[in-house]
Amino acid sequence: ARRSAVTRAVMAPDSMKDAVSLDNDAEALTKSMLLHYQYSVGMDPTTISSNKRAAYEALACAVGERLAAKFNKTQDHFKKVDQKYGYYLSAEFLQGRALLNAVENLELESSVKESLAKVGYTLEDMAEQELDMALGNGGLGRLAACFLDSMATLDLPMFGYGIRYSYGMFKQLIDDGFQKEEPDYWLGTGNPWEIERPSTKYPISFGGKSVKGVWTPADQVYAVAHDNPIPGWNTDNTISLRLWGARPVEEFDLSSLNSGKYQEAFEKRMEAETICAVLYPDDSTTEGKILRLKQQYFFTSASLQDIIARFLEAGHTDWDTLPDHAAVQLNDTHPTIGVAELMRLLMDDHGLEWDQAWAITGKVFAYTNHTVLPEALEKWGSDIMEDLLPRNFEIIEKIDKQFVKEMTALKVDKKVIARMKPIGEDEWGKGKDVVRMASLAMCGAHTVNGVAAVHSEIIKDTVLKDFYAIWPEKFQNKTNGVTQRRWLAFCNPELRDLITSKLGSDEWIGDLDKLTGLREFAEDPEFQAKWREAKLVKKQALAEYVKETTGYTVNPEALFDVQVKRIHEYKRQLLNVMRCIHQYSVLKKMTPEEKEDVVPRVVMIGGKAAPGYAMAKKIIKLINATGKLVNNDPEIGDMLKVIFLPNYNVSAAEIIIPGTELSEQISTAGTEASGTSNMKFAMNGALLVGTMDGANIEIWEEIGKENGFIFGAEVEEVDALIEARNEFEPCEEFQAVLDQIEAGDFGDVEFYQQILDALSGEDGAHYLPKDFYLLGYDFPSYCAAQDAVDAVYKDQVLYCSIFMMFGCWPHH
Ligand code: PLP
Repeated sequence: ARRSAVTRAVMAPDSMKDAVSLDNDAEALTKSMLLHYQYSVGMDPTTISSNKRAAYEALACAVGERLAAKFNKTQDHFKKVDQKYGYYLSAEFLQGRALLNAVENLELESSVKESLAKVGYTLEDMAEQELDMALGNGGLGRLAACFLDSMATLDLPMFGYGIRYSYGMFKQLIDDGFQKEEPDYWLGTGNPWEIERPSTKYPISFGGKSVKGVWTPADQVYAVAHDNPIPGWNTDNTISLRLWGARPVEEFDLSSLNSGKYQEAFEKRMEAETICAVLYPDDSTTEGKILRLKQQYFFTSASLQDIIARFLEAGHTDWDTLPDHAAVQLNDTHPTIGVAELMRLLMDDHGLEWDQAWAITGKVFAYTNHTVLPEALEKWGSDIMEDLLPRNFEIIEKIDKQFVKEMTALKVDKKVIARMKPIGEDEWGKGKDVVRMASLAMCGAHTVNGVAAVHSEIIKDTVLKDFYAIWPEKFQNKTNGVTQRRWLAFCNPELRDLITSKLGSDEWIGDLDKLTGLREFAEDPEFQAKWREAKLVKKQALAEYVKETTGYTVNPEALFDVQVKRIHEYKRQLLNVMRCIHQYSVLKKMTPEEKEDVVPRVVMIGGKAAPGYAMAKKIIKLINATGKLVNNDPEIGDMLKVIFLPNYNVSAAEIIIPGTELSEQISTAGTEASGTSNMKFAMNGALLVGTMDGANIEIWEEIGKENGFIFGAEVEEVDALIEARNEFEPCEEFQAVLDQIEAGDFGDVEFYQQILDALSGEDGAHYLPKDFYLLGYDFPSYCAAQDAVDAVYKDQVLYCSIFMMFGCWPHH
């Protein structure tokens, strides 16, 4: 809806023509905001102080045009220098809100505050108007968002490519302790940050037939570009998250409309809109599978066409140089159809021969593996692939044949080849052939990386073992990272100011290694006290947030213990709540003298469960039921509170993480590929209780294991422990918690039966072997680690020096 500054200047009365200045001072910004209020948002200027939403839109337009100007400058620059571009293809981008991030990166904070004060608003008032851009599920999508931020800050030319989903991640409501999902129509009030580019569009074909390499599709839609500018910090470099929206090739069918067949007339439009409607449509039906594959192909094809268009526009004619101008990172298997699609584009649209196209493709792509959970390695029925993308399927068949030939020449065992090849039998699909997307990625990419040191080793021994045996040189590690801008500097200004004053400069906001400069002050009592003060401000804010979102009052002096992430059996929120139940029993039995010695604790757990994930939803209910019991018990008071934080998303995380003192990273060893909230908590100075898993290990390597509250089985032990599950007797305390659940202390026993079955039922009672995630085994050491946390918390000097170690961690 935003009109460019130039259009606006033409439309504006003469006296306002000077208002196109994009300076950063308060006067220029106020002018921009007021003009946008009138001409872009279309409001009577006298109403600005009484219409928060419209004021926000005007402010977003004013900030947004400054971003757009920088984006244009960036594009001009990179076109001139003809530098290699990085392209990040991801089905998810969990961006969160844009306003504060843009204001801080553009160093507009004081001007914006001044401008807003004139019309009676604060920056927070405006920030709250913005709905989160939640086009992702969790870590994988948030990683994509952090990468964009870092790339922009590092002055790199880059595009993020994804889908402009109409509906983001569902909104989670808690009703009587149960998760309820509501659609998240984040575009319902418009998105003033995006720049729609109707002329940057590409045809995307589906269905039909391919005969000897000539594809006659049955359907086509257009993918239309929407740029979301991403600013860097302390630089003009501004890149774009380019999201593709789908449009019908013909607006509607006039003859159907004229004969009164309205539904038919708009059918194509509906079909196009469905492609971009939701993130991860349920794929339990064939229709759902087709839609997901359609989405993946849609955004991957559009992105590759865009990349090629940029290459050609720069005047390049030698296709062999494409890899010198484009590096494409595949974020998990979702965009891996790109391997076949680039082949198709190079051969069918640009006339290259197979061998040349294959050599180029292999130099363009790199693939990131995000998980070792076997169900996450995508496979598409060959029938579905052939029906929807017949030409791509033909290409995949040829890649498959070529792979078999190559492996046979290397004398790889036939059985091994059969389980590696891109097209093969689905072990779960009764002999049906499937296209294995990870295998396609392995064939078409020059490198594959895991996302933490331990994960990168595990993939070599498990999901990608066969590939490691033949192509060890393709394997790399790239431990996940997070941006310290959004996750420390902007969401925790109290700590930012303290750090900056101590280091004498804010360079650490662009270069995190500079934080190590804090180490010499880590033991300084005065500095520690200031750090504690800054933490207390954030704890108070979190306590208010808890009150607002749950109704519970919590004591900001208590230890704030937090686990926020998607709800999943492997992440073991169940272990956390079981310890709360155990602790409740311990507290109930204490004498008044013993109670004096208790460290008061608020345990907060937040996260969304996938709508179809029954077990995860039961865990949410158990957490809420535990909270109801514990929080209303007058004998317990402040000693323990158990809180479920509803609707966890990026904006919630920006309040929760700075206010946390203990972060829970307690996945079964070997299951959490990296984790990124562990890093965000660490940089905000929280202690870490966790297992030797994912990036926890690397964090402890930096800060010293002696500062960790490490517990549980290690990766090397896990398989044997699962194997020995039937001989294993859990401790009495663990059994007592199960007995309490079984006794109905938390409500309907039948409802919790699945949890009981998973933990202690016979094999076959749950879809995984008995206690597959080793809660029983890890429970005693987990409780001991928590007791150790309490002991340290009582000694505030020791406590401060440990969390200071986290605060000074260089976070490579
Ligand atoms: N969801 C949101 C909103 C996040 O900010 C993050 C990361 O911090 C995640 C999910 C992923 O969390 P974790 O690394 O704990 O799985």
